[in-house]
Amino acid sequence: MTRTATRVLVLNSGSSSVKYQLLDMRDSTRLAVGLVERIGESTSRLVHTPLAGGEKRERTGAIADHSAALKAVADELAHDGLGLDSPELAAIGHRVVHGGLRFTEPTVITDEVMAEIGRLVPVAPLHNPANITGIRTAQALRPDLPQVAVFDTAFHTTMPEPAARYAIDVETADAHRIRRYGFHGTSHAYVSRATAALLGKDPSEVNVIVLHLGNGASASAVAGGRCVDTSMGLTPLEGLVMGTRSGDIDPAVTFHLMRVAGMSADEIDVLLNKKSGLVGLCGDNDMREIRRRVDAGDERAKLAFDIYVHRLKKYIGAYYAVLGRVDAVAFTAGVGENAAPVREAAIAGLEQLGLAVDAGLNAVRSDEARLISPHGARVAVAVVPTDEELEIARQTFELVRERVNA
Ligand code: ADP
Repeated sequence: MTRTATRVLVLNSGSSSVKYQLLDMRDSTRLAVGLVERIGESTSRLVHTPLAGGEKRERTGAIADHSAALKAVADELAHDGLGLDSPELAAIGHRVVHGGLRFTEPTVITDEVMAEIGRLVPVAPLHNPANITGIRTAQALRPDLPQVAVFDTAFHTTMPEPAARYAIDVETADAHRIRRYGFHGTSHAYVSRATAALLGKDPSEVNVIVLHLGNGASASAVAGGRCVDTSMGLTPLEGLVMGTRSGDIDPAVTFHLMRVAGMSADEIDVLLNKKSGLVGLCGDNDMREIRRRVDAGDERAKLAFDIYVHRLKKYIGAYYAVLGRVDAVAFTAGVGENAAPVREAAIAGLEQLGLAVDAGLNAVRSDEARLISPHGARVAVAVVPTDEELEIARQTFELVRERVNA
């Protein structure tokens, strides 16, 4: 064998966008990253950044569909000498949002796997169809290459039944696959392991509460490396207050709106998923802007911030109780990694639980995993940058390395 196949292309396909990264798994380095957005519109845009040397490039103009988008990405990569026809490419790893209960591990994609991802469309109507399109497109481009699905739900399939079941009629729930699945699993898996590493321990030895606070946000309770509870449910709507989603809400609000406001199910879906959360409360969903407004004395922004933090604190308390013993609370994703005031406010007043934040450490800006709790604290509070693409690449490579390099 002259060349070993060690590169993995990671694809995250949305309904009108594709995000991609090409990594070399010999040392987990990124060779190129980019995204194509507004696919299907006349104003499509591709932004490509080669990381092994070369300038960031951008092109605009109609990209008709996912197939055209992936071909454009392949052209950009070829331009950098990283073409998808290279024998060094080992596999393509796809982020797939919903894997139901069946997919507990990353899985090499076959026709049968595709059929099952398709059967899950009713519980993930926005995401799984886009993921399927992305996979089909990649298969057409390199039919000979292993394609691997890494599921957002997989890490949560270890949740015990009392955490995973809703207290509704069992026959109805089972007939329609209604239960709590959880999402952001790749991030929760990565961050819980990275937190254990930060503490110098094996994941099996530590209990961690992971707070993934991006535009979408979710919490998870991870005991000895296994997820035992998470805040998102059948869909990503449940749980924490998010950028545009309400998170937990009395389900009766939906029929109340149907009856008194004459709203349809679809309208309420849009209200709760797109027009609620921080944006519904104060008109902004970017935590930077909200903090600027709070600092300027804006009352609505302050209320939005306080509601966001109140919910977060409730989940920390709940998962503390679920775990019994907590070794670390880890903040991650855009808000968790960057918004010191959110971390400070969420942990404030929890000294009786052994939780505290050191103001000086909390104020430090860094891309590294780090502790922000006072030295010698009983429970560590950490900021741990997430890296979902690296985790997808790792899981993909792990699965195919022997097969492609046999
Ligand atoms: P996504 O869920 O889209 O992957 P990210 O994890 O990138 O989101 O998080 C995006 C959010 O992170 C933004 O909407 C913003 O609220 C927040 N954010 C990003 N940078 C900062 C910052 N420097 N300070 C505070 N909040 C930030």
